[in-house]
Amino acid sequence: MPLADDDEFDPDVVTADVAACPRCGAAHIRISFRPLTNHDPAAPYRVYGLCPTTNQPVLATIEVVGEKAEEPGAPNPPAG
Ligand SMILES: [Zn+2]
Repeated sequence: MPLADDDEFDPDVVTADVAACPRCGAAHIRISFRPLTNHDPAAPYRVYGLCPTTNQPVLATIEVVGEKAEEPGAPNPPAG
């Protein structure tokens, strides 16, 4: 699957600023993050971007603001 160009609108892509890049330590403006495929449900990271300095992945979480997100509580009854 070819990657879309940055100027093409893709609803799966989230653009965010990175204050302190975990790869190079610098601040990056408007990094594009895409959803991780088969991410570990127990892991906090849901999306990845690329550090423009090192071209290495930057993993991040997504926090939904202004819209009701899924409740974190488990719907299952307690075991017993
Ligand atoms: Zn970086």
